[in-house]
Amino acid sequence: MVEHRPIPATVASVERRVAAMEASLEARGLHPAEFIANQKELIQDHWDPSNGARVVARAWADPAFRQRLLSDGRAAVMELGIPMPAHHQHLVALENTPQVHNVICCTLCSCTAFTVIGLPPDWYKDLEYRARIVRQSRSVLKDMGLDLPASTEIRVWDTTTDTRYIVVPLRPPETEGWTQERLASIVTRDAMIGVSRL
Ligand code: FE
Repeated sequence: MVEHRPIPATVASVERRVAAMEASLEARGLHPAEFIANQKELIQDHWDPSNGARVVARAWADPAFRQRLLSDGRAAVMELGIPMPAHHQHLVALENTPQVHNVICCTLCSCTAFTVIGLPPDWYKDLEYRARIVRQSRSVLKDMGLDLPASTEIRVWDTTTDTRYIVVPLRPPETEGWTQERLASIVTRDAMIGVSRL
């Protein structure tokens, strides 16, 4: 049986502690409510996988852009108006081929190129994914619904504070002649992490 011990009377409720922290920050001229509202807007409206989807669609459709993306990902995505935080010094674009499949992780925590592919999904932060994708990548991908042929080489890339990644998925053959907008509509966050194919 689980024993529930009452919280000692000396510890204030979460609401009161939050209010006390907010009051303390306000007293120092900081505006936590405004900061939280701005962060929410950034996350919901700007740090969105649709940015990365545009990058991938452009790379598929425009060979010169693809070259620039592969040689300097940071400069290439900024060319499309996608911001890169100063500490994301390198954005490495990993191009899948029929022979090589790339997948990214952050073994230490949960880093992604969030302005490009969005914030990490919950499973990306799980110790299970972070530990197993490195050692048992083929079976982890299979568990996640991506059963790659034994002949496909899997490369796992571990994100760091200053180096972020985006996987450029294989372009499905039936998309020949599509506009970039239509191409972008099929590119998913999971495909840019490398746990699914299109
Ligand atoms: Fe991290």
